[in-house]
Amino acid sequence: MAVIGGGITGLTAAYLLQETAREQGQPVRVSLFEASGRLGGKILTERVDGFCIEAGPDSFLARKPWARMLAERLGLAEELVPTDPRYRRTYILHRGRLHPIPEGLFMFVPVRLDALLRSRLFSPWGKLRMAMEPLVPKGPPGDESIAQFVIRRAGREALERLAEPLLTGIYSGRADRLGIMATFPQLKEMEQRTGSLVKSFLAGRKAGSGTGPKPGGPGAGAKPGLDDSAFLALRGGLVSLVEALVQRLDGVTVRTGVRATSLAALPPERHAATRAPAALEQPPDGLQARYIITLSDGTRVEADAVILATPAYAAAELIGPLCPEAVPHLAAIRFVSTITCVLGFERAAVQHPLDGSGFLVPRREGRCITACTWVSSKWAHTARPDQALIRCYLGRDGEEEALGWSDAEVVAAVRRELKELMGITAEPRLARVYRWERAMPQYEVGHRERVAAIEQAVAQQPGLVVAGASYHGVGVPDCIRQGQEAAERALSYIFRKGRQHPSVE
Ligand SMILES: Cc1cc2nc3c(=O)[nH]c(=O)nc-3n(C[C@H](O)[C@H](O)[C@H](O)COP(=O)(O)OP(=O)(O)OC[C@H]3O[C@@H](n4cnc5c(N)ncnc54)[C@H](O)[C@@H]3O)c2cc1C
Repeated sequence: MAVIGGGITGLTAAYLLQETAREQGQPVRVSLFEASGRLGGKILTERVDGFCIEAGPDSFLARKPWARMLAERLGLAEELVPTDPRYRRTYILHRGRLHPIPEGLFMFVPVRLDALLRSRLFSPWGKLRMAMEPLVPKGPPGDESIAQFVIRRAGREALERLAEPLLTGIYSGRADRLGIMATFPQLKEMEQRTGSLVKSFLAGRKAGSGTGPKPGGPGAGAKPGLDDSAFLALRGGLVSLVEALVQRLDGVTVRTGVRATSLAALPPERHAATRAPAALEQPPDGLQARYIITLSDGTRVEADAVILATPAYAAAELIGPLCPEAVPHLAAIRFVSTITCVLGFERAAVQHPLDGSGFLVPRREGRCITACTWVSSKWAHTARPDQALIRCYLGRDGEEEALGWSDAEVVAAVRRELKELMGITAEPRLARVYRWERAMPQYEVGHRERVAAIEQAVAQQPGLVVAGASYHGVGVPDCIRQGQEAAERALSYIFRKGRQHPSVE
């Protein structure tokens, strides 16, 4: 069996293929191919001068349990860290000043009015319009843009000053293009169920039910701090998840620095008996292979099942000849490029209190920074007490100019804005710029139907599976879940096939 792509989705899939098959007493041979020189994909941690720097994701949503469950399974339970509860406040930039997001809000609607009334983030009319949410009739079922949904429920100010930076930041996307059903389906479901987000929230609270799965899953004990933190990180950086997975891939052939360049179905007459031994590697699991993968070093590898854990555009190139109906849908998933710029300071040189998790920047503010995390406040493990670590994001859909700047230009622009917004004039002791080209898939209106069409086309090829951030969730927990499901699908195909071929090991 082969896994193409060594990001968190592919690594999880390879690990679970190996482990599940072993547990079921039916070991399989698994190979993983990664185009770049390292494993982990978007997950990249650097430890420099006392700083723990995350170049890509820095934490994961706790209410989606799959990342925490995997970390626990891999023996990393003690490494999980909650956000520092003293610094959970987030600021929003409005007319050049940072305003705290008022307490008592559920997403972008008020469930308590006192803090909203005091807030200077919204105009009196904006507050009134948000407070009227329970009175707004429910909209039509089906998909619509985040912008349409939020404006209908809470007004344009709620969209521009709060929901747009809060909800679209994860995708570096545009509120008028991202679809509510693929990004925040729970909001649409709440509206459809009770007619109002506020009513749903209050009903849920009265019934004592959360809005999502409880973190931890089976076997996870309650841990002080972990269970009430919205996000979890790992003390050694998210790369420790990657390292723990890689360590356990003892039965998997892992090759980095090799790109899969084509994938073809093996004609039935060219099965194992007629294979040219010098040209081809063994099929990874000893079964009669269905697919032949050509790698960038000229090697060809046979596999009876293939998990494609690459971005959709790479999957489109590989499966084009096999599943031509999937290609237009794969190609329709757009990607946005972003930059993370990380600055490390002497704490004493930064006058700002850093009394929160950071700030978000609405588009209308016209800044190059789209969001800023006060990393060392949020996560104490990322710097020594005498240091401060700040991470800024640049680039979002329609605003990708910074990708063309040199590193020095990026750092200069970020420092200029941090000076204006936070009064930071100190020279950073450390500056890092990470470029993420075509990194953020855009879940636009109709994304779920697009993915269903891709999966329907791919299902015509037995043993072929696509998985990863392009399809059913961009966050690390969703990628882990997709890696897990891909492994289950591939194994169920192999075991079914194995029963039809009694000679299989
Ligand atoms: C800057 C940034 C910040 C983020 N922050 C967070 C966060 O805080 N929390 C969170 O949960 N999520 C976050 N995300 C999202 C999350 O990190 C990603 O969605 C997730 O890591 C993607 O995992 P993946 O395995 O699906 O894809 P990838 O990590 O993209 O891995 C795919 C792999 O496939 C390889 N590949 C491609 N083509 C081929 C080929 N032909 N042959 C072989 N290999 C190939 C690539 O080299 C790559 O390594 C962030 C993402 C970015 C970019």
